[in-house]
Amino acid sequence: MQEVYHAFGKLDVVKGVDLDVAPGEVVCLLGPSGCGKTTLLRIAAGLEVLQQGRVSLNGGETAVPRGRHVPPEKRNVGLAFQDSALFPHLSVLENVTFGLKSEPPLQRRQRALALLEQLGMAGYADTYPHMLSGGQQQRVALARALAPEPRLMLLDEPFSSLDARLRDRIRDDTLHVLKKVGAATLLVTHDPEEAMFMADRIALMRDGCIVQTGTPRELYCTPCDPFVVSFFGEVNELTGEVRDGRVHTPVGAVNAGWLAEGTQALVMIRPEALRITEREAPVEAHNYSHVIMAKLLGRSSLLHLCAHGEDGREAHLHARVPGVFLPAEGQAVDIHLDLSQVFVFPSGVAGAGS
Ligand code: ATP
Repeated sequence: MQEVYHAFGKLDVVKGVDLDVAPGEVVCLLGPSGCGKTTLLRIAAGLEVLQQGRVSLNGGETAVPRGRHVPPEKRNVGLAFQDSALFPHLSVLENVTFGLKSEPPLQRRQRALALLEQLGMAGYADTYPHMLSGGQQQRVALARALAPEPRLMLLDEPFSSLDARLRDRIRDDTLHVLKKVGAATLLVTHDPEEAMFMADRIALMRDGCIVQTGTPRELYCTPCDPFVVSFFGEVNELTGEVRDGRVHTPVGAVNAGWLAEGTQALVMIRPEALRITEREAPVEAHNYSHVIMAKLLGRSSLLHLCAHGEDGREAHLHARVPGVFLPAEGQAVDIHLDLSQVFVFPSGVAGAGS
């Protein structure tokens, strides 16, 4: 799609989006609630009439005319939406085979059963939708969407009704099926971890626009602005002035040579970028840190620290360290920065926290 705009009455919801998905590629539309993800997906599906811009499907074979309704079934797309209703009067198996009318019955049945098995629903072929939990219905809806092996799959929060343990497995299985089918997939989620797991590329949206598109690694390791950094999890934010090409913070100096001298800079430090060691040298008046609180979270420990900089400035930071590391309250520690997880932007760049 190119230069797609969409409004509901006076509310501009999609504001000039360019996006493409190659065959066999999974692209995740990621972003906070209300940023326009579902609307974009509905435009691609034909559930919203295209108001402005260009949309073409199936490698450019099908151009979607502006202002005219072309329903999903004419677009060779598979849809699984959050609220995808199953046909209540059909069994699970009949729901999944519904879109396979052109195939011989035995083949239809085999394909549907194989998909149900892959999605952990093997024993439910003869049950009816009202006998299933929300998560089970969601899996049947996924199987129904995948069964015709469409060239384009549009999935809107397809795992939202699954509990955490099941979700990991079903995501894994769904990705496997999508790759096997070779469908171009556009998947909407607001969960950064889900996007990182599922996507070949992520398009991160904010307020109707795509802020950055790239591989999960590109977005995580080379975020283009503070919004992108903070979308992938909690982050410590410090500010300082650029002097001699560096920003001086209470936890050390960080390179910022591309910013003009005297610029106010925002330094964003992921909690996992802080490596903490117990202090062996004597504690000075400045240039050390102390532990305010340490909590075990399971696989990692969360430390709340106060850093005392050389210049007398203090900063409160969260550090996340692997395993069990629970220094006593008040203990002096040293903080070492993993600079690959520290990001510097000029202060006041739109995005942080918005
Ligand atoms: P979520 O993650 O919460 O599902 P989203 O990013 O998918 O959010 P959309 O559902 O695309 O966001 O909605 C974007 C904006 O458009 C929201 O402000 C929403 O209230 C508004 N909106 C969506 N559908 C309609 C509609 N049919 N009529 C009027 N406003 C709508």
